[in-house]
Amino acid sequence: CHLKTFFVDLLEGGPSELRERVGKARVGNGFGMVVRHAVEELPVYGPSVQSGKEARGYHSAMQLLCRDQAMLESSYQDYLAGRPPTQPSVVAMTFSGIDPTLAPVGKHTLFTWAQYHTYELRNGENWDGIREREADKLYDLVCQYAPNMKGKMIGRYIQTPLDLERDLGLLRGNVMHFEMSLDQMFMFRPLPEISCYKAPMKGLYLTGASTHPGGGVFGASGRNTAKVILGWRG
Ligand SMILES: Cc1cc2nc3c(=O)[nH]c(=O)nc-3n(C[C@H](O)[C@H](O)[C@H](O)COP(=O)(O)OP(=O)(O)OC[C@H]3O[C@@H](n4cnc5c(N)ncnc54)[C@H](O)[C@@H]3O)c2cc1C
Repeated sequence: CHLKTFFVDLLEGGPSELRERVGKARVGNGFGMVVRHAVEELPVYGPSVQSGKEARGYHSAMQLLCRDQAMLESSYQDYLAGRPPTQPSVVAMTFSGIDPTLAPVGKHTLFTWAQYHTYELRNGENWDGIREREADKLYDLVCQYAPNMKGKMIGRYIQTPLDLERDLGLLRGNVMHFEMSLDQMFMFRPLPEISCYKAPMKGLYLTGASTHPGGGVFGASGRNTAKVILGWRG
């Protein structure tokens, strides 16, 4: 789990200085939201409207739907100003194009991860009030790039930065747990005294996104922790 949650909220009788220091490590302010759609067919990218029933080569990859650098920059400016992005950029993923067992026969999944979305809104809105509207922006962008997707959404599961915190314990919606800044990476992640995947308590090892090299499906921190446990010194 998140090491801030572990050391600050769950661990009883741990060193109080460590608890305090982990509590001060920077968690950040979220940076994205995710919407997982059930859809009638796969997106077909390009101007001509075609059927997306059959998977194509690109359905095994992911697509960054972003017009240009200015679009990224504008959503980052919205983030810095504490408002939801007018023009979010989207990474679209169609896992059912690779693994048809993920959806009923003939149907598909379309996951969209988008940036930038601040956890803390400073424009007077709140995430529960705008989650549907912000999710619509992501699907609308997919439809701009893949016109065949208009009207093809069957359902969706929205996770705003606030939902990521509530559903998954990702504090302040940061999927990387702690900010991935230089002063919180390498031997500083999450703190120098616990950066070697070991807590000061005997037999307690640490892993996951809170430890170096941070979050990611590549599982590097788990591999590193396993090596420490196995006594590897190479
Ligand atoms: C929306 C989102 C988008 C992301 N996008 C990307 C991306 O594009 N690329 C990327 O590389 N990373 C991405 N990440 C980050 C990445 O998914 C995580 O950093 C990574 O999955 C963490 O792996 P883990 O094995 O440490 O933890 P987890 O994947 O969380 O695995 C922990 C496992 O432990 C289980 N568990 C928990 N408690 C117990 C218990 N008491 N007993 C037994 N089992 C337990 C859980 O059920 C879970 O299966 C994303 C994360 C999110 C949330």
